[in-house]
Amino acid sequence: MRRGTNLPRMGDFNQTVVLDVVRRAGGGLARADVARRTGLSPQTVTNVARRLLDLGLVVEEGATARSGPGRPGTLLRLNPVSRFAVGVHLDPATMTFVLLDLSGAVVARRQRPTPVPEDPGAVVDGLVGEIEGLLASAGVDRDRVLGVGIATPGPIDVDAGVVLDPPHLPGWHDVPLRDAVAERTGLRAVLDKDVTAAACAHLWHPQERSSDFVFFYLGTGVAVSTVLHDEVVRGVSGNAGESGHLVADPDGAPCWCGRRGCLGAVLRAEALAEQGRAAGVVLPDWGDGSDPRAVDEAVSALCAAAASGHAGARDVLRLAGRRVGMAAGVLTDLLDVPAILVGGPLWDRIAPFAGDALAAEIAAHPVPGGHPLTVASSEFGPQVGAVGAGCILLGRAFTPRPTDLLLVS
Ligand SMILES: [Zn+2]
Repeated sequence: MRRGTNLPRMGDFNQTVVLDVVRRAGGGLARADVARRTGLSPQTVTNVARRLLDLGLVVEEGATARSGPGRPGTLLRLNPVSRFAVGVHLDPATMTFVLLDLSGAVVARRQRPTPVPEDPGAVVDGLVGEIEGLLASAGVDRDRVLGVGIATPGPIDVDAGVVLDPPHLPGWHDVPLRDAVAERTGLRAVLDKDVTAAACAHLWHPQERSSDFVFFYLGTGVAVSTVLHDEVVRGVSGNAGESGHLVADPDGAPCWCGRRGCLGAVLRAEALAEQGRAAGVVLPDWGDGSDPRAVDEAVSALCAAAASGHAGARDVLRLAGRRVGMAAGVLTDLLDVPAILVGGPLWDRIAPFAGDALAAEIAAHPVPGGHPLTVASSEFGPQVGAVGAGCILLGRAFTPRPTDLLLVS
């Protein structure tokens, strides 16, 4: 049931609405334009702008040539260095850390191999140490750090901030990662799925792109996030995106689910290494696949072989691109969306060899609605999960959501 709102919360809501409009404008906005874009009265905008200036979240800049009826005004511009957020992506092979300013720009970054990924305690120690190191190296006043966004493989309990039992993090069962990081750092923390975070990275940054797209995430596993009207579809438990069992090849490699040729089974990093070895590429041994870092090295060797012209290695990676394209075509038909984005740490490495095959597959895909269907690689590269995790935290603090106005009964 929907309930009303109290006036103080309405004020907070208007504040985030104004901040959001100023942020999206990028280059600065006159108060009159803010009023026009938000539908708020000029007086309300003036009051809200004063609060935002007091908080340091926006700054005033220069006189505009003409802003409103004959009255020169100043532009309101986001003050990007007024607040910061830490974004962390915990991948079974690699931990990535970024420090974002309020505009979402990366001001510091670091990457480390994930320490003993099957030992959650060691991973938390590693995460906390790196977060502290990142903040110290950036020299940012801690009071200006809004918190830490953490992206991990799913499934997770979003509300409790708990990593449940991800297939790619063996040894992890019900790990309260969010609270562990919050307690150890003294910072607010949020936890979300890697694919959800990766999609969110594209929502915070004002770019010319469709507000409806599917995001294909290729990391240690494969997942897909759907963005409709600039909102990530999260599902009832926040675990939407598990696309690993879409069948890509009925005669393909067996999947742990009992079927063959599931997308996750043929596109995960270890599967690519296996296909490379079968195609005659000499790769370092990765054992039984339980060490994500060894698998990672095998994929690096596969990409290096493709770069040096090994035909078998190139075929394996081209086929991977085609498979992403086939699955993406099915999903865009299902959802009637006009754009596909692909990213994640694995994609970033294979894209130079798989990108053309993906593009060709999409170009040949008949679109039921007849509209153009575009495909592109994420501009955030291997940092997409970490950037997105930081953006989720910025979004929680500064994105106007009508649901924030509903009173909890
Ligand atoms: Zn399966």
